[in-house]
Amino acid sequence: MAKLQAVRGMHDILMHDTPRWQFMEKSIKNILNQYSYQEIRLPIVEKTELFTRSIGDNTDIVSKEMYSFDDRNDSSLTLRPEGTAGCVRAGIEHGLFHNQTQRLWYTGPMFRHERPQKGRQRQFHQIGIEAFGFNGPDIDAEQILMCARIWQVLNINGLSLEINSLGTAESRLKYRSILVDYFSAHKDQLDEDSLVRLAQNPLRILDSKNRDMASLIKAAPTLDEHLDNESADHFAGLREILDGADVQYTVNPRLVRGLDYYGKTVFEWISNELGAQSTVCAGGRYDGLVEHHGASSTPAVGFAIGLERLVELANFENTPNTHMPHIYLLISGEQAVKPGLLLAEQIRNQLPGIRILSHCGGGSFKSQFKKADKSGAELAVILGEDELENNQLTIKYLRSEEAQTVIKWPELANFLGTTLSIRVIPSK
Ligand code: ATP
Ligand code: MG
Repeated sequence: MAKLQAVRGMHDILMHDTPRWQFMEKSIKNILNQYSYQEIRLPIVEKTELFTRSIGDNTDIVSKEMYSFDDRNDSSLTLRPEGTAGCVRAGIEHGLFHNQTQRLWYTGPMFRHERPQKGRQRQFHQIGIEAFGFNGPDIDAEQILMCARIWQVLNINGLSLEINSLGTAESRLKYRSILVDYFSAHKDQLDEDSLVRLAQNPLRILDSKNRDMASLIKAAPTLDEHLDNESADHFAGLREILDGADVQYTVNPRLVRGLDYYGKTVFEWISNELGAQSTVCAGGRYDGLVEHHGASSTPAVGFAIGLERLVELANFENTPNTHMPHIYLLISGEQAVKPGLLLAEQIRNQLPGIRILSHCGGGSFKSQFKKADKSGAELAVILGEDELENNQLTIKYLRSEEAQTVIKWPELANFLGTTLSIRVIPSK
């Protein structure tokens, strides 16, 4: 039989790493609460049509990255490559948009059939934030400030913010024809991808990572020269708030996003520490998408953070230690098994914050002590035959020279409460 292996580009996150993930996710969720955004939980699978209609046929995601399959009823379904489409679908389906505003977030795995490399996986995780029903630049600014707060809390330095305005659909259309003229005049310098984009979505040529085309792209006309007044005002409003909040940014007139429905504000946070896959967070305004799906027009803005890239950057020095037990309960002899487990239950009732690892599976004291030591626990609580007979427990300090002590059973909760509150080992 072939060796058991996960699917290429889809990774396990092992128990050594989950404490960092948990800390990161919890920190972000706390911040989302601070801004009063509400969680929405969405299916991982949606109808394929939802993504083709939302993201656009000529995008990388739809044209080559989707995991699509026919289910048993022959409907084409797709593992979600991103969360915005599903969120918009849910909002329309449940009537969350009409005459209302919503500030929502979701998190979970996303799937894209890309070439796996550092910072690029086929299953990866995002936290996505979306706000619906807000027209002005205030909400765009709020979301960017929210990002800045997340980096601060996770101790991430050196992220730079790039912003741009893609204008309204009308000004994009005008700009599109200017771009088509420009790139058509230099057709011989375009790669295969860009030739396709030239016909279908010329703005996305600006997004090309092909170095051979860098100077051609650099010399291309930019949209800011053709921006409509409405979008220019919106962009100025956003910049004013960011300036007021002392958020540093650069305006990158070549920043276009991969999805068709972005307009006005777009932004990316980029790290200088991640190598080629350096964008940690990306987002923008997609005012046309809800209406495009047949519901009444609803302005919207959102962003997504790539959690694999973020976990690489975050500083986990102050991560609370939540995986090591405080106490290892040694249980020796058949007679002690039941009372030992019941004792542990009782302590968990009385001291819900304490982590107890009860020894299971018998074995000598010596082997149990080895496990206790390895577990990282501060205290060993010993329940053997002698202890059982005398209604006692022996306490051994595993991380200090302090002499062991003997207490009566009913004293345990009290003893642990006072001892551990000042002694719990600081996290590593
Ligand atoms: P890229 O230019 O890196 O392909 P994208 O524009 O396709 O990014 P978005 O759809 O905007 O990415 O997703 C937002 C964030 O999700 C990215 O900035 C990145 O941090 C993360 N992300 C996207 N694709 C992957 C992937 N295949 N593996 C890991 N993280 C990813
Ligand atoms: Mg991509």
